[in-house]
Amino acid sequence: MGAHSRKCDWCGAGTPIVRDLQPVNAAYQYWCVECARALIIKGDPIEVYRELEGEPIYGRLLDEHCALKRFYSFASV
Ligand SMILES: [Zn+2]
Repeated sequence: MGAHSRKCDWCGAGTPIVRDLQPVNAAYQYWCVECARALIIKGDPIEVYRELEGEPIYGRLLDEHCALKRFYSFASV
């Protein structure tokens, strides 16, 4: 595949698990799990993406975040 030598575009260290298919900045397309999670927590998740590991790692991060968001909006009412 040749993708294994690629590093996360943001931190330059992590192994990318997701690719942003419509990046705001073309320099940041590949994200490792830690940086992808940070984006979600920041409230700026990748909207159009492709999982790179053949399993829904990013999808699970989104699920976790959505559960948190539900919790927080519920808790703040
Ligand atoms: Zn990273």
